[in-house]
Amino acid sequence: MSDNDLLENFHWLMDVLQNIDVGLVILDQSYNIELWNSFMQNHSAKQPSDVLGSNIFSTFPELSESWFRRKVESVKVLRSPSFTTWEQRPYLFKFRNYRPVTGMTEFMYQNCTIMPITNARSEITQICLIIYDVTEVAANRLQLQRANSKLHIISKTDGLTGLLNRKYWEEGLEHEFKRHQRYQHTCSLLMFDIDHFKRINDTYGHPAGDEVIRQTAAVVKKCVRDIDICGRYGGEEFTVILVDTNQEGAMVVAERLRKAIEANTIYYDEHVINYTISLGISEINSEISNHTEWIDASDRGLYRAKRAGRNQTQIYNHN
Ligand code: GH3
Ligand code: MG
Ligand code: MG
Repeated sequence: MSDNDLLENFHWLMDVLQNIDVGLVILDQSYNIELWNSFMQNHSAKQPSDVLGSNIFSTFPELSESWFRRKVESVKVLRSPSFTTWEQRPYLFKFRNYRPVTGMTEFMYQNCTIMPITNARSEITQICLIIYDVTEVAANRLQLQRANSKLHIISKTDGLTGLLNRKYWEEGLEHEFKRHQRYQHTCSLLMFDIDHFKRINDTYGHPAGDEVIRQTAAVVKKCVRDIDICGRYGGEEFTVILVDTNQEGAMVVAERLRKAIEANTIYYDEHVINYTISLGISEINSEISNHTEWIDASDRGLYRAKRAGRNQTQIYNHN
């Protein structure tokens, strides 16, 4: 190959490197910039004349020096390229994102390859960085993750009250039951039902009934501890798993809740609504052989409270 051919080859090669749609940066041993292609120019708004010969850390303070030096050192030792993804580190260079479709992210997500460059004697003389714009992939993935976590919450909770729905709550109870079998921690199950709720619906209308259910859930959340597990079991039936609580402790919680509901006046449209609840409690014990029997025991307590005149709490002992 003649010198002329070589020069021509070099020219078109430089043309390709300049115009390729990925970022190319070459650094010397002291981390000074030797090549800065047009992708890098366009996105950083820095011309080669601004950056060539300058130190990469002083020109781009967002690049973590200790992290990047460590990466480069390992590339040199292993003599092979290293790849970092946007999931490990969203970007190396903070470039603004101008794409309309992915306009919801304000910067460009980047994958990056760090590659050693060797001379004819196989000595590493420089380091090459290849920067890929992966904003679109990252934005889609993040959007999907957000949607999934929202769905996950929706699938666990009841839309009207935000409490756990029956299915999910029952899984929690089963888990508590197994925990008891293993560690013998005590635990009480509280169930309650709004008194004469049909009357509330009939007198004030179904939307007013919904508001009563919503406010009941809000009062429950205020009356129990964060670790207690509240669920909407049915239409106007609620359940609370009182973790590490015996039946006497559960009685205290239940009475506090009963009085709070009795004192809670609901104003809906022009209506002023007062109402009460009846509650049943059962503490876990060795006679109860599965979580369904445990629910059944609390339900019996609740039924007793209704029969005994409502607006009260009854403990049901299985044995
Ligand atoms: P008791 O004191 O014996 O519990 O009498 P009650 O009238 O409350 O009787 P019951 O518990 O059987 O009534 C439940 C009623 O709750 C029946 C149903 O129409 C109503 N209901 C169930 N779910 C909802 C809901 O999401 N919103 C409204 N507004 N009403 C509901
Ligand atoms: Mg009911
Ligand atoms: Mg009822």
